[in-house]
Amino acid sequence: MRNEQAYYDEIKKKFAEEREIRVNFRPEGTAQFTSEFTGELEKYAVDPYAEERVEREPITDTVECLFIGGGFSALLTSARLRERGVESIRIVERGADVGGTWYWNRYPGVACDVVSYDYLPLLDEMNYVPKNHYSRGDEILEHCQAIANKYDLYDLAVFQTTVTSTTWLASEQMWELKTDRGDVMKARFVICANGTLSKPKLAKIEGINDFKGNSFHTSRWDYDFTGQDLSNLKDKVVGIIGTGATAVQAVPGLGESAKELYVFQRTPSSIDIRNDWPTDPDWAAKLKPGWQQKRRERNLQGPQLTEEQKKKQASRTKEEKLRHQENNNIDYMMRIHDRIEKTVDDPQTAEALKPWYMFMCKRPCFHNDYLPTFNRPNVHLIDTHGEGITKITEKGPEFKGKEYELDLLIFATGFEVQKTGIYNQIIGKNNLDLEDKYSDGIRTLLGIHTEGFPNLFIMGGYQASFQFNLTDMLQTQGDHIADCIAYAREHDHNTIEPTAASEEWWVQEVISHRGKTKRNEECTPGYYNFEGESNRRQDGNYNGGFLQYFNHMAEVRSKMLNSFIFD
Ligand SMILES: Cc1cc2nc3c(=O)[nH]c(=O)nc-3n(C[C@H](O)[C@H](O)[C@H](O)COP(=O)(O)OP(=O)(O)OC[C@H]3O[C@@H](n4cnc5c(N)ncnc54)[C@H](O)[C@@H]3O)c2cc1C
Repeated sequence: MRNEQAYYDEIKKKFAEEREIRVNFRPEGTAQFTSEFTGELEKYAVDPYAEERVEREPITDTVECLFIGGGFSALLTSARLRERGVESIRIVERGADVGGTWYWNRYPGVACDVVSYDYLPLLDEMNYVPKNHYSRGDEILEHCQAIANKYDLYDLAVFQTTVTSTTWLASEQMWELKTDRGDVMKARFVICANGTLSKPKLAKIEGINDFKGNSFHTSRWDYDFTGQDLSNLKDKVVGIIGTGATAVQAVPGLGESAKELYVFQRTPSSIDIRNDWPTDPDWAAKLKPGWQQKRRERNLQGPQLTEEQKKKQASRTKEEKLRHQENNNIDYMMRIHDRIEKTVDDPQTAEALKPWYMFMCKRPCFHNDYLPTFNRPNVHLIDTHGEGITKITEKGPEFKGKEYELDLLIFATGFEVQKTGIYNQIIGKNNLDLEDKYSDGIRTLLGIHTEGFPNLFIMGGYQASFQFNLTDMLQTQGDHIADCIAYAREHDHNTIEPTAASEEWWVQEVISHRGKTKRNEECTPGYYNFEGESNRRQDGNYNGGFLQYFNHMAEVRSKMLNSFIFD
């Protein structure tokens, strides 16, 4: 039975109060973090997984397609390019292998939060069925390596190399890429596949460099210190700052292994049940070729309403629809609260673990062992109620005058979000820096092309549709990019660049779908809403729906000569 509206209004009021507390603690929004790891912070960027630095001579050759980054974006687009006959493909990657997210994130418990049969791309092409309903990180990394092998992507790949500048050479109609290895490579087409969440960030906490114990970011896990199975932690006091998606996966293992574990929380995540199970071999054996593509097509259509549901929806006013959605959302969050109460023994800890915001304000999490970990006598939740740790001494974090003495401090503080051109300066026609172009607002066509930057394609950046299963979106972009490159090749065009009009159309399209509701403004700060900052309507994702985004792409491709200038 539905509650009275007053019940929902009361909860919404509490959501707003909790948001206010957090915004007041951090009015600086995204500026509360840094991902520029220079000076003493440099150690947080070091790759602990590369066995050794491979020395090599600088490269000065030319390839047809060059990917900046070697994660899923690069791999799935390369596969499509190979299918279209492109031979010369190079991946340039900071890490020592392909994999991107799944190369860097090897913390204990790492796994995808989207059903593996949907999340892992190219399952039809690879003839592979994941081992579990949710794949663990090592399986995903192996899948990335298998794709690179199948499509011969290791041949020209360059690892342990960061692209530092990407400059358009108008006279040659080529991109010139410089790296931190002294390379000066050229490429006809460049695909920025630098990731949506790949540059680690740290909270700017006073005294962060004073800490004398060991410390690292979760994407640079120091297994030499913890032991592969975390057994070295049995006599160690460990602290973890942050309670987002990574911490939710890492905390259960840490709680089991550490002598003491302190979890420093600012805002709790919403944690739902994780329905995981090993893949049923009988089910897998019955899958017909093209099974994943069919799943993707179904996902693209979204949930289908029954006739009765459609009628009911149509009979509601806009305001009623919104209220109905909000109330459903609150009911869901109260079920999350209920689960916490039933799972966590100590009522004060249970209370502190309750998220007070609408579902999807922050990245949702799914785990069966995170909440019970707080019932262990060696695990302590230090709830800062929105404030966060503000000081670190040589012994460890300090909160409200109490110092927490630690042997190991782990930063589960996340990543810079969806920035194009990380570690890399992109200079297009007429010496235009992409950052300068975007300083008056992001301008793209479909989040992929941008005027003044011919033959440059962007993956996972803003102004594209956001999907909880990101590979659905990346695959759509990869297919589109491969089609655009194939079109230019087939028609003997040297360059492809969006027209000013098509770019303007898309910017307006993005603007028209953003800010229709107050949802973002009302959400508690987090990376989904730029930490509570108010920003230009065009500087975010396209909110017109994934199917619409997909259809718009097809429309752009059906009118190539209207959408692009070719040279
Ligand atoms: C811990 C974690 C869990 C996640 N779980 C999910 C999930 O369950 N479901 C989901 O949909 N998404 C998830 N994501 C998002 C995930 O990032 C995407 O699903 C996807 O893997 C992104 O692929 P990508 O190739 O675009 O970027 P990435 O995998 O991030 O790869 C980008 C690569 O580019 C490299 N790079 C960047 N700049 C340069 C440069 N200048 N020079 C050279 N190399 C450079 C980086 O080193 C990085 O390896 C998760 C992200 C994280 C961090």
